[in-house]
Amino acid sequence: MSQTGLKHRASQGTPEAELKQQLVDCIRMLEQADIIDYNGHASIRLDDNRILINIGSCQRSRLTVDDICTIDLEANQLEGKGNAPLERHLHCGIYRVRPEVKAIVHAHPKWSTYLTMVGESYLPVYAQGSLVYPVPLLDSPNSINNRVMADRLAATLGDRPAALMKSHGAVTVGKDIVEAFVLANYMEENASRQYMALQIGKPYPFNEEEVRLCREKLWNENLFKRTWDHFHAKLG
Ligand SMILES: [Zn+2]
Repeated sequence: MSQTGLKHRASQGTPEAELKQQLVDCIRMLEQADIIDYNGHASIRLDDNRILINIGSCQRSRLTVDDICTIDLEANQLEGKGNAPLERHLHCGIYRVRPEVKAIVHAHPKWSTYLTMVGESYLPVYAQGSLVYPVPLLDSPNSINNRVMADRLAATLGDRPAALMKSHGAVTVGKDIVEAFVLANYMEENASRQYMALQIGKPYPFNEEEVRLCREKLWNENLFKRTWDHFHAKLG
């Protein structure tokens, strides 16, 4: 394996074994960054009807490719040594209506969820956090463990790269696993800074022009890879 596990960026044409390893690395990095715990999952679209996703019962901190299973877009299990998570429907619902989406991260991270618990809107308070702004909110804490909730979440997300779910969690999507991972990090880091700033005053939210400038400079494949590499280096 290459040093970063990222010889190829897009899933198209990348061998399945390599995509599995990227997914494993992504989930281990999310666990190490305290974004996922014993719940939480990430997925990669393999083709029109197959998705790689971690099994529900796995140890995220010690994940291996044996903990990755395959499901179809209707949430049926196709392969794997364990069962896909109950909220697999979340991934299927988004992939069904967003053909350009190749990877998804869903977690129950603390800081962004705190904001949703008290009705505090996510605001861009540091540069990278503006990439997902504005973030739509699913107005329900219910698990996305059936098709009705999955379709509702996909409709809430619309064409955006990220959404929050009230008193539940967060979802980010991307054209590859790097993008979905990096956006999950940026969103949670922004929420953490926003939360902290709220304790001592009223945080300054970037204005429209500042958000536009951030997006122009920071929505960049090389910078996304640098962020991925930063976390990947810590895996050891
Ligand atoms: Zn969830």
